[in-house]
Amino acid sequence: MQHERSFWFLLVIAAIAAIVLASLLLRDLSGEAPVFKVDNFMLGTLVEIQAWDSKLDEESIRNSIQRAFDSIRAVENAMSVNIEGSFVQKINESAGGPPVAVSDPVISVIEEANRISELSDGAFDITIGAICHLWDSSSETGSRAPAPDVIAEGLLNVDYSRIEVSATEGVVRLPETGMWIDLGGLAKGYAIDAAAAALRNSGLTNFIVNGGGDMAIAGVRPNGGKWRIGVRHPRKPGEQICTIGLSDLAVVTSGDYERFFEFNGKRYHHIMDPKTGYPANKCQSVTIVAKEAMLADALATAVFVMGPDAGLRLIDSMPGIEALIVDAEGHNSHSNGFRRFLLDGPLKLQ
Ligand code: ADP
Ligand code: MG
Repeated sequence: MQHERSFWFLLVIAAIAAIVLASLLLRDLSGEAPVFKVDNFMLGTLVEIQAWDSKLDEESIRNSIQRAFDSIRAVENAMSVNIEGSFVQKINESAGGPPVAVSDPVISVIEEANRISELSDGAFDITIGAICHLWDSSSETGSRAPAPDVIAEGLLNVDYSRIEVSATEGVVRLPETGMWIDLGGLAKGYAIDAAAAALRNSGLTNFIVNGGGDMAIAGVRPNGGKWRIGVRHPRKPGEQICTIGLSDLAVVTSGDYERFFEFNGKRYHHIMDPKTGYPANKCQSVTIVAKEAMLADALATAVFVMGPDAGLRLIDSMPGIEALIVDAEGHNSHSNGFRRFLLDGPLKLQ
């Protein structure tokens, strides 16, 4: 009896040892470098960085990833409307008052925002902050829309062309009390670019910086294949409408499913139409592929507001940028070159 028990015990130990040995051998045989992954809650979402390099050791890769997170944190501290003492908060608090000295990155993000505002005929407008904060407070207190006259009054303060920016003096001024900027439409993209730049400066060439589905993608996977990215179905959580393969590009999606509440059967979400002061209603999601995450981020928000027709005209006029749009009825359309990114067959939408 005693013998029998120790026999089974030894057999189990031997089996475990065999499995461990086999997995070690398999890893060696495949010759693939391990991918290191770290995540942190930042930018209001889970940010994950993965990287690999066959010539660098684990410690130096992890240190590089840490530096990338540090640069994201620095962007967030400068540009979030919600962080006490951020440059953006200072600009808003000083609306109608004196100019505010800000860092160079804040100037360049605001200038890029204004460029996208021009290109999108005002569909993208960071002075939409005057409207966003009305909606934020009403959704917190009971999932209601603000009163129409409150929105009408807020809209008087929405006009990107009135932002006063001086790159030479390093200052920004909002000329009217009640004006309010919100960089939420592109600062996450800027932060992702900053993290990617930090990784590149550390000598890494194969990585993904993923901020809640918005990504900068560099190089390839350890097996030499392209990094694979699933594009989410805007109405079926857990399902994807396609898988795309990217290298040295950024992909950003803006969707009405990210932050929303429903009231009287209507969905109110966080991408606002600067012409109406209400959530934009022409799209369910917009995915943009571009060289930089900041540009992709701003364009995803802009095209979401513009809708598929005007949005695709804009994207097709911009070299090197592609878009996939799911419109309000759930039908998809895409820019001329989007198909080249598709892996695993066609789109799973009409
Ligand atoms: P996220 O990736 O956080 O879901 P998006 O890139 O879709 O964000 O942009 C939504 C955010 O952009 C809003 O939370 C708000 O801060 C800001 N925003 C909303 N509407 C506009 C607009 N029309 N133009 C510029 N920024 C906007
Ligand atoms: Mg955006």
